[in-house]
Amino acid sequence: MARKPIHAAVQADVAIKSRRRCPLCVFLDGNESERPGQIAHLNGNHSDSRLENLAWLCLEHHDKFDSRTSQTKNYTQIELRTYRDKLYQKYASCDYSDDEVELVRKYLRNYSRVFAYIFGERSELAFKIDHNVFDSLAEMQDSWNVSDLRSFNPFIRETQDHIANNLAGILAIYEIHMYDLVGDWIKLDSRRISHEALERKSVAAKGFVDAISGYYEQLEAIAVK
Ligand SMILES: [Zn+2]
Repeated sequence: MARKPIHAAVQADVAIKSRRRCPLCVFLDGNESERPGQIAHLNGNHSDSRLENLAWLCLEHHDKFDSRTSQTKNYTQIELRTYRDKLYQKYASCDYSDDEVELVRKYLRNYSRVFAYIFGERSELAFKIDHNVFDSLAEMQDSWNVSDLRSFNPFIRETQDHIANNLAGILAIYEIHMYDLVGDWIKLDSRRISHEALERKSVAAKGFVDAISGYYEQLEAIAVK
C-alpha cells in the first residue's frame, strides 16, 4: 500500500500526546525514556492517518508490529491500542504547573525573532545569515546549560535541549574558511566550496530547521495551555 505522508500537525499531536515514549517499551519493558521512533498505523492502512489510528513506536517495536503475520503471535492491534491509550492518559494527567507554562512562554517570546528568521530561511541558511541572528544563536548556545529559560521539567527541558542541539548544527554550517562577513551578512563565498558540498549544507540546514520546528510546535502546544 502506498504510504501517504501524515500531516505535520497530526505527527506533532502524536509526538506530544505520547511524549515520544513507546507504549510497548513503557508497559512491557518498563522503559520510560524517550526513544527514537516512528508513527505506526494501528489498522495497517497507511492512508488512514486519523489520530485514533496512530501510535508512536520505537524502531524495534515498530518493526515487530509491522511484520506481524498470521503465524506469529506478535503484538495485536488491540494490545497496542490499549497500551497507547494508557500512555496518553498517564501523560495527560501530569499537567504542567503555571510556572512551567510561563517559562515556556518566556522562552518562546525571548527567541521569537531568531525562530521566525530561521523558519523563514530554512535551506537558504547555507548561503547567508544575518550576522545579528548568528550572534543571538551563538549566545543562546554558549549559555544554554546555565540559562534561566531552561526548564526544570524533564520533558520541557529535553525538548529545549533538542532545539539547542539543532541550533548548534546550524552554527556549524558557517565554516570560517568558506564564509565572509559582508556588511550585515555572513555570506558564502561560492568559489571556496564545491557544488556538492553546498548541496550538503543546504540539506543539512533544512534538516536542522525542520527538526527545530517540530520541537517548537511541542513547546507552543504547552504555551497555549
Ligand atoms: Zn518500544
